[in-house]
Amino acid sequence: MIYLDNCATTKPYKEVLNAFVEVNNLYFGNPASINKFGKTTNKLLSAARAQVASILGVDEGSVFFTSCATESNNIALLGSVEHKKDFGNRIIVSKIEHPSVLESFRELERRGFILDYVNVDEYGLIDLEHLKTLLTKETILLSVMQVNNIFGAIQPIDKISEILKDYPKVHFHVDGVQGILKDDINLSKVDSYSISAHKFHGLKGIGVLYLKSRRTVHNVIFGGGQEDGLRSGTVNVAAAVSLAKALRLSQEKINNAKKNHHEYKKLIVDEFSKYKHIVINSPLRDDFVDSIINISLPKIKGEAIVNALNEREVMVSTTSACSSKTFHLNEALFARGLSKENIEGSIRVSFSYETTKKDVETFVEVFIDEYNKKFKEVIESGI
Ligand code: PLP
Repeated sequence: MIYLDNCATTKPYKEVLNAFVEVNNLYFGNPASINKFGKTTNKLLSAARAQVASILGVDEGSVFFTSCATESNNIALLGSVEHKKDFGNRIIVSKIEHPSVLESFRELERRGFILDYVNVDEYGLIDLEHLKTLLTKETILLSVMQVNNIFGAIQPIDKISEILKDYPKVHFHVDGVQGILKDDINLSKVDSYSISAHKFHGLKGIGVLYLKSRRTVHNVIFGGGQEDGLRSGTVNVAAAVSLAKALRLSQEKINNAKKNHHEYKKLIVDEFSKYKHIVINSPLRDDFVDSIINISLPKIKGEAIVNALNEREVMVSTTSACSSKTFHLNEALFARGLSKENIEGSIRVSFSYETTKKDVETFVEVFIDEYNKKFKEVIESGI
């Protein structure tokens, strides 16, 4: 079985699973309790927070545990607007964001804010000139992802933060789910940043929200006041410890993984370029990560390709796991101006820290075989 759907989720490291079980077994106290068990658990939570903070290069007090990146994004976006609403009513989002960001903006629009979408170019990179035309003195929020989850473009976060120097009222949120470790980011240049453990061999159900300044985000969840009141609810300490562990292990592996991913992507691009009907939507460029490759067979449905590969024990995905059950054209690919046929015929291949060259070679072999047997004739017959 070859698993190349690591943007959707990754297999937890053994050490991560062990840490989760051990903490649940031995340190199950409530970190908010003042008894001995509680205090020990709370120490573990602080250690996990400190470890995450040190890897992110930020203060411990700016790291908040949440249940997932969807929650982190919602808290950052809805909470920052709640804080800034007296200063303006305009909000800006890029057209290629994950639904957890786009739908938060659409909710804000329903609540009366004026929503502007910033364009991307043919590669899916933010159009900085368009952004400049959208920014006004009334703008209070901008969200741009670090790395796109559908095709892997790396956004110019530094350049955007430079532009925002003229607009100090704007809260700048970055969704770092697919970018963490894979692309360097200086978090002092953004106001908030979200990550999710299950994308780097941690567990599902635990994420982090980094906030440069806690007081710039109002609470949107109410309760017992955990996580400095930002995310009430008993903290899942075992999951937080395992997130810190997964992040540290991934950090140790990242340089090697980056080298491997470059080699793997080049292999795929070189091989597939020999076939005139195969379209690569993730070019080999410095402003694309090497771990995500979007590929199309125009005139063929992405589902048909995924199913054909599935039968051969190779797992990839249609545009994204979150939207693969809906029949709409993928918004991120659409924003790049790709044709309907290209979008409908697209699949995504994504590597993890543990993907091997053999996995990639087998994928290439199986894909080409299925292309020759099932798809080439259909494409050429023009039906
Ligand atoms: N943001 C991006 C870019 C993603 O790819 C995903 C998940 O696919 C999320 C946010 C949501 O993450 P979570 O599953 O932790 O809610």
